[in-house]
Amino acid sequence: MTNAIKGFCLHGREKIYPNSGVSVTSNTSVVDMDLPGLKEGEILAKTLYTGICGSDNSASLGKPNFDWVERPRVIGHEFSAEVLELGPGDHGDVKVGDVFTPLAMLGCQDEDCPACSVAKWNLCPNKQIIGFHRNGGFGQQVVLESDRVVHLIDGLTPEQGALVEPLSIIVNALHNKCNIKPGQDVVVTGCGIIGLMSAELARAAGARVAVTGIAHDRDIRLKKAKERGFITIEVSPDHTLNTQLSKGIVDDKGIPFGTNGKVDLLIECSGVPQVLTEAIDVVRPEGDVCVIATYPKEVEINATHLTRTSLNMRGSMGSCRDDYMVAQKLMVTGVFPSEHYTNFYDFENITQAFEDSIKANNVKAVIKMN
Ligand SMILES: [Zn+2]
Ligand SMILES: [Zn+2]
Repeated sequence: MTNAIKGFCLHGREKIYPNSGVSVTSNTSVVDMDLPGLKEGEILAKTLYTGICGSDNSASLGKPNFDWVERPRVIGHEFSAEVLELGPGDHGDVKVGDVFTPLAMLGCQDEDCPACSVAKWNLCPNKQIIGFHRNGGFGQQVVLESDRVVHLIDGLTPEQGALVEPLSIIVNALHNKCNIKPGQDVVVTGCGIIGLMSAELARAAGARVAVTGIAHDRDIRLKKAKERGFITIEVSPDHTLNTQLSKGIVDDKGIPFGTNGKVDLLIECSGVPQVLTEAIDVVRPEGDVCVIATYPKEVEINATHLTRTSLNMRGSMGSCRDDYMVAQKLMVTGVFPSEHYTNFYDFENITQAFEDSIKANNVKAVIKMN
């Protein structure tokens, strides 16, 4: 019997709004799991640590950009796990006892697929995301394809293993797309973990970095950004990023940030449509906007301004196996200091962890699963 194995399950679709009086976790609950038998190429693993992603929160709140997720679904795609059992078929170098993190996105692997044929599973139109297309890492055990396994490298802890996937997304965006040069001024909009990771890697690439947040972020996420030495900018409808940069922002040495209120690069991690609309106003001509967030509705962009300033705006979706390897190395070497960014919870407190994450009352929740 598997009735001792529990999972955190998304079942509802109700749209939950802040302060509406409905619990932010009312679409989810902890359930007893029945694990399916192993099919060809599948393995059974015990989850070790699983991180709560902004997309898990969005799905839990019934946001339309996650309407496609079938319910009930045990969510979770950022985790470390240990192999318990191998199903039928060839599993390459995957053995019982191996500790790994899964590739969140599994491509169709069809040789005619334009994405999979160049090993970009993250761009496959038929990609399968663990925790959304099949049950994921918020189960105390998980069945998954051994094709997804990325072994943790020597020196990387299972706790850090839960951060490999989100960090790999930043590696893909910043290393492969942004081309940051030392001395540049970069604004990261949004101070969730994706924003804070972006800030760390942009600084590691030689940039001076400012991070934005709202009043609610002042005591936790912006405070963390400030402790880590970033310029912090609290924005509101009356005090937009653009107006504050135009008035002049200085770093802790009093040196002006940006040039005439314009920066070289803006990395959009907030997922707030208005923030992306305004992003092109704060970037210098021929500067860059990199979009990592997704949005609950279409976003208005002043395309003529984009043309006249010759801005580069590009999106960055997910990550590949190579990015996972770089992300692990960045943590093992301390370039990304994961210990500053994690709040650990035991599995019995998982509902609290989701509530804290949805309300932005922590930096990055990671659940000890067993
Ligand atoms: Zn994620
Ligand atoms: Zn494909």
